[in-house]
Amino acid sequence: MLIDLHAHTTASDGLHGAAELVAMARARGIVVLALTDHDTAAGVRALAGVELPDGIEVVAGIEVTAQHAGREVHVLGYFIDPHHPRLLDFEQERQQLRRWRLERMVAQLQQAGIDIALEEVLALRGGGGAPGRPHVARVLVAKGYATGMRDCFTRLLLPGGPGYVGYRRPEVAQAVGLVRAAGGVPILAHPGLDGLEALLEELVQSGIAGVEAYHSAHDSGTAGRLAGWAQARGLLVTGGSDFHGLGLEEGGALGEAACPREQFERLRRWASSRGRVQAAGDAGSQPAGGVPPGPAAWPRGRDAAGTPG
Ligand code: AMP
Ligand code: ZN
Ligand code: FE
Ligand code: FE
Repeated sequence: MLIDLHAHTTASDGLHGAAELVAMARARGIVVLALTDHDTAAGVRALAGVELPDGIEVVAGIEVTAQHAGREVHVLGYFIDPHHPRLLDFEQERQQLRRWRLERMVAQLQQAGIDIALEEVLALRGGGGAPGRPHVARVLVAKGYATGMRDCFTRLLLPGGPGYVGYRRPEVAQAVGLVRAAGGVPILAHPGLDGLEALLEELVQSGIAGVEAYHSAHDSGTAGRLAGWAQARGLLVTGGSDFHGLGLEEGGALGEAACPREQFERLRRWASSRGRVQAAGDAGSQPAGGVPPGPAAWPRGRDAAGTPG
């Protein structure tokens, strides 16, 4: 009776399409699976009209790449409306920026003497989804330029590396505003993985409703600490594997770092009560400053020099 609230499909950098992923999860005994693709809910929309196996509930989710104090922060959104117009606008902008970033990354890697072509990276996408750094890394590892994903990121794709290209990202408060506007619940993803524990108080000020305490990259000490911290403040606690695909180094196995049932029920109650509050037009439940302006108003990231738009 596992609940896995963090998984990627071919709509972003996962290896399996949404319907295939749901079937795989069901076979593993997962009863609730959230699809949380990077900057898109296209995987959720792909399930429209698809007959899903009995005994598994799919939660519409997203994992928004945001920033805080110049650092990358991932914001999960749960129970979103995958067709919300603001979400669709956001996705389109992110797809364009990711495509722009990919072309720059490939050009920079070529300049560093690495034999890589844009088409090789695009060919790895299972869907029409946004290409990400993991797609580039998979090409580089396959061609022997790195021994694995971690090695590839460390030497080539992280800030300071020849393949790194900064791009504009929303502030955490803006990502929170987007998730809430789409009717969802914003949760801070894997703070232990990103070394964000010292910034938790600040991040919660941005309107985060809870913390992903259980994650395949958190050890039990980290998970316990984060869960205790969140619960002491009345915040939500979630968990998930961050599964990307069979045989991949990224993320855990489906069902790993599962979300406790009572925590999932709290999340669901939070989502449905917010729906009622929104329907009643209560602006008081918005984060400080109300719903932030749309993508055009986003600030440039510290490392986003040269980003178009
Ligand atoms: P992107 O959103 O395209 O910039 O890619 C971000 C993804 O790259 C993350 O979700 C991770 O799956 C992966 N990633 C980020 N940093 C690392 C790292 N140091 N080692 C391996 N994978 C990483
Ligand atoms: Zn990913
Ligand atoms: Fe993440
Ligand atoms: Fe993820």
